Amino acid sequence: MAAHPDYLWRNGELVKWEDATIHLTDLAWGAVGAVFEGIRAYSTADGQGLNVFRLPEHMQRLRDSSRMVRLPISYSVDELVGFTIDLLRANDIHQDTYIFPLVHSGGDMAKRNDPTSLVAAMYMRTNPSATHLCTGFTQRARISSWTRISDNVMPPRIKNISNYRNGQLANYEAKLDGYDCALMLSPQGKVSEAPGACLMMIRNNTLITPDVSSGILESITRNAVITLARDLGMDVVERTVDRTELYLADEVFLSGTAAEITSIVEVDHYAIGTGQMGEITRKLETMLLGIFRGENPTYANWLTSVYN
Ligand SMILES: *Cc1c(COP(=O)(O)O)cnc(C)c1O
Repeated sequence: MAAHPDYLWRNGELVKWEDATIHLTDLAWGAVGAVFEGIRAYSTADGQGLNVFRLPEHMQRLRDSSRMVRLPISYSVDELVGFTIDLLRANDIHQDTYIFPLVHSGGDMAKRNDPTSLVAAMYMRTNPSATHLCTGFTQRARISSWTRISDNVMPPRIKNISNYRNGQLANYEAKLDGYDCALMLSPQGKVSEAPGACLMMIRNNTLITPDVSSGILESITRNAVITLARDLGMDVVERTVDRTELYLADEVFLSGTAAEITSIVEVDHYAIGTGQMGEITRKLETMLLGIFRGENPTYANWLTSVYN
C-alpha cells in the first residue's frame, strides 16, 4: 500500500489507518449523498509550525453542505476545528498538507429515498500536498462542451460529491483534447467556473469574477482573493461574464483551495495577455504564499496554528 498517515479521524475519534474499514456493500448510495471539504495546511517559513488556512470557514461550510443535503452533523465549528488539530498533531504533520473531511450516510441505504433513514457519519484524512505557488505553474484551458450544473439541478454552491461527476467529465474531455483543464459555462451560456476552482479575470486593472448566482461554489479562496485585490486598491466586480471576455482579458487565473492560484495562459488557443503569467496574478500568488507561511501579520486571523 502507498505511504499513508498513521491516523484518520472517524466519528469523534482518532483511528489507526488500518482499522478504518467499512463493509463492501456500503460502497454505493452512501457515497452519492456525501458532502466534503477541501482544506489546506501550510508549514511556517521556518519549517517548525503548521497553519491551517481559514479552518473555521471551511468547517462552517461543511455544516452548511451537510444541512443542505439533509444529512446534518451535530458537531459545532469549534469542535470540528479541534478534531482537525487533533488529527494533524496525531500524524505529526509539519509539511504542506491537504485535509479532506467527508460526511456520508451511515444509515440504511436500502431506503435511499427516505430522508428519515439518513444518519450522518464522518471521517477526515490528511495527505501531503506541496504548494505550486511561485513555482511558475501555468495551465491551458478549453471551454467545455459540458454545461455546469445549475441551482435547480444540483446545489452548485456546496461541496456535494455528486456534483463532481459534471466537472470530472469536463476535465476528462479537456485532457483528452490536449488541454490542462476545463472552464464551464452556465446553462445561460455565461462563464461559471472551472470544475474545482473559481475563475477570475483581469481587464484594465479591474478584477472581474462570476457572481454567486452563476452556478459557482461559494469559495473561501475567492473571498480571500477579492479581499486582497481590494486591499491592493483594485476595483473588484462580481457579475456575469461572457466567454469572449476571457479571450480578450489581460490575465485569467483560477482560485480555490486545490488550485490555490493557477494562472491560465491560454483559453481555446487564444493567448491570454502576453501568453505568460500576468503581473497581478503573480503579485496575488506571492502575497497568498506569504500569508499561508505566516509571514503576513495583516491576515494572521485567516490562520489556525496547529502547534501553539
Ligand atoms: C472547492 C471548490 C472551489 C473552491 O472553493 P474554496 O473554498 O476556495 O476551496 C470552487 N469550485 C468548486 C466546484 C469547488 O469544489
